[in-house]
Amino acid sequence: MTIAPPDAETRRAIAPVICYPNDSLPQPDLGLYTQGLAGAELVETVIAAPRDACSFRVAAGQFFRIVSVDGPQVGDLNLWNAADLSERFYSGKTRALHGTHVTTGERLWSAFPHLRPMATIVDDTLDWYGIDAFGGSVHDVIGTRCDPYTGNLLSGTQYHHCCHSNLTRALADATGLPLREAEAHVHDVLNVFMCTGFTRDTGQYFMKASPVRPGDSLTFFAEIDLLGALSACPGGDCSSEHSSDTAVCHPLKVEILTPAAGALGDWQQPARNGYDRSHGR
Ligand SMILES: [Zn+2]
Repeated sequence: MTIAPPDAETRRAIAPVICYPNDSLPQPDLGLYTQGLAGAELVETVIAAPRDACSFRVAAGQFFRIVSVDGPQVGDLNLWNAADLSERFYSGKTRALHGTHVTTGERLWSAFPHLRPMATIVDDTLDWYGIDAFGGSVHDVIGTRCDPYTGNLLSGTQYHHCCHSNLTRALADATGLPLREAEAHVHDVLNVFMCTGFTRDTGQYFMKASPVRPGDSLTFFAEIDLLGALSACPGGDCSSEHSSDTAVCHPLKVEILTPAAGALGDWQQPARNGYDRSHGR
């Protein structure tokens, strides 16, 4: 290992700077959304079976709520613009803007060149959890999704009920796309209810038993027309392992809710990003 320079401790002691101070981010009108949610009517319920995924459509101005039922279970969420699959959830930029885990008032942003809020979290019954002594927290945008390729790389397996494959089948069923085409639209997820962090000593991605219990939920306001897919991860509560049929798994419920007429006032969908895309030419 390289010998540390004499001023190593001084360099380490420099205070960090937030990469993207987010005080200038367009803020959601949470009061308006909360009021809309209070009078909203349940219009559809979809179930993601254990180790499988469901899809759902939510119109701009509606809400969708992911609910824990039967037992602790984490979910892997993908979102697309319902009219244009190329506009999809951008986990990495959402992380850069809001942090490793998201909660009420924070938003799921779409990929370039759109970069606008797709959904805003309006209620999170696990918001009390905060950051635990291990550095763990809930609803992360740091994991990717469990997938059969990494399983094959690490253990030579052919496992078909990883979140990646579950989401691929759900999108293929929702759109009629062939499986291989649908797969190309599957992307890094929001890990709903999952409790994760990075170890302080080795910086490795860790998971631990989710604090979610039946009745807990995460509720979103749809900023644009959305097609969503939710996989009930084969890791169950992610207390031990995923990418196998070993863990105890439960379903997840998705509810679609419509606010009362006029409840959103003159709310409008967010515009696409204003960059002119000339890239200096
Ligand atoms: Zn998974």
